[in-house]
Amino acid sequence: MSEKQNLQKRSDSVFIGNYIRYPAVMVKGEGCRLQDENGKEYLDFLAGIAVCALGHCHPRVTEAVCRQAGELVHVSNLYYTRPQTALAELLVANSFGEKIFMCNSGAEANEAAIKLARIASAAGRFRILSLQGSFHGRTLATVAATGQPKFHQGFEPLPEGFVHLPFGDLEAVEKNIDESVCAVLCEPIQGESGVRPLPREYLSGIRELCDRHGLLLIFDEIQTGMGRSGTLFAYEQYSVVPDIMTLAKGLGNGMPIGAMVTTADLAAAFVPGTHASTFGGNPVAAAAGVAVMEVMLAEGFFEGVRLRAAYLQKRLAELVPRFGLLLEGTRGVGMLQALVLSKEGVARGADIVREMFARGVLINFAGNAVLRFAPPLIVGEEEIDIMVGRLAEVLEEMENEAAGA
Ligand SMILES: *Cc1c(COP(=O)(O)O)cnc(C)c1O
Repeated sequence: MSEKQNLQKRSDSVFIGNYIRYPAVMVKGEGCRLQDENGKEYLDFLAGIAVCALGHCHPRVTEAVCRQAGELVHVSNLYYTRPQTALAELLVANSFGEKIFMCNSGAEANEAAIKLARIASAAGRFRILSLQGSFHGRTLATVAATGQPKFHQGFEPLPEGFVHLPFGDLEAVEKNIDESVCAVLCEPIQGESGVRPLPREYLSGIRELCDRHGLLLIFDEIQTGMGRSGTLFAYEQYSVVPDIMTLAKGLGNGMPIGAMVTTADLAAAFVPGTHASTFGGNPVAAAAGVAVMEVMLAEGFFEGVRLRAAYLQKRLAELVPRFGLLLEGTRGVGMLQALVLSKEGVARGADIVREMFARGVLINFAGNAVLRFAPPLIVGEEEIDIMVGRLAEVLEEMENEAAGA
């Protein structure tokens, strides 16, 4: 057995088995394309789970990372560094936020948000209302905030103070507000549970309730932020401004970095000693973030994203009437799109994704409900056409199979 063929075995023998991986050793990426060790090419409509927003190895990001790695990699937050200051300034200049905390992942950004919401609220207010079907991370507090029981199983007792409310039910929010509640936490568009945009009136209703009862509104924009929705942040399109926003995935285009964005008033509660991160805002990761922001803020970037996102949505919608046995509809915002599967389709969701993988297209089956498409924001119409063509082939085969069965 060659060393190459061996890699999967070697990996499986030393890694904990908490991931199910596809049988490919990825070795190279460029734009929307990945290449495995056998030279097979993949069109990437997942972008490392909505992370590589500018595509793989974007030259501006690669250049920034390489330059910074040659100058200064890490000093901790005991000292100032240029890249993290520049990134924080860009985030403040382009959002509702006035103050930033930097960390290394989405879950950590949400942990910071949860801690800030509690410490900035009156004594006794600690409970956080979140939504059923939400996803907020895998640490104990963020998994407790996550409104999906399957992520809780086996890890009880979970940290106290999280209440999961039915999606879209404003009355349930109001009914659960009392003196112990400090915040409402939600994703403007639920990503992991199947690309479910929160209704507009629902989000503005939540904002009103928060204002009326003195609660903080936390938006988890870890997946929807950094251009994924077609604007830099999804909240811009809802015209609802949160008090705290968390970011990660697209922020470093693949370099691990997360951030919590908030107002100066709230930020004042995080005095020295309350919260910290050794690596947070690491100069190399922050330099990647600065490059990402500069590319996205260039004239016309988001207009282009919105045009191509509309094209993706249109091409996906065309498949729905053609494959009525498996597909029910489309939903999504910007470059976070989904094909909603019928009961028959759900039963074949994993097979569809596997068959697409075999044909060199990466998508995923999210929330046991939809096919999710989260390509790099720079995906081209031609790449969308190729993906849709292959998906149509796969769906046709599956429908024939289903009809024959
Ligand atoms: C991915 C994700 C997280 C968790 O991010 P990690 O970097 O994996 O910790 C949290 N919230 C949302 C909405 C996400 O999509």
